[in-house]
Amino acid sequence: MIAETIIPADAGDTTRLDWATLVNLEPRLADLLRAAQNVEDDGKSSYFCGNAVWFGYNGHLGLKPRLVGLVGFDRRGVLACDDLRLYDSPAYDVAYSKVYSALPPCRGECGCM
Ligand SMILES: [Zn+2]
Repeated sequence: MIAETIIPADAGDTTRLDWATLVNLEPRLADLLRAAQNVEDDGKSSYFCGNAVWFGYNGHLGLKPRLVGLVGFDRRGVLACDDLRLYDSPAYDVAYSKVYSALPPCRGECGCM
């Protein structure tokens, strides 16, 4: 299991980077988490693939491509007031873990297992 709280190793800024801090800095992350929480595996089909929903294949748009635009090295929409921690991998790791873990797990023969 990936820890939810990561303290940057470079010690330049040792402020705790947790989910609440990230959402405060980038509120669109809350929308992304809600989107993941709203994904349902209704159990009616022979399989469900959380990774297809996450990465964006088998007809899914993908949540990860949206995450990448909000946090980490490929964050878009640079503003002068942007907190630089949003561009770092610790922030990306926290957000990735939080949103991905909200998805229902793969089930059946989706091809991931
Ligand atoms: Zn799968």
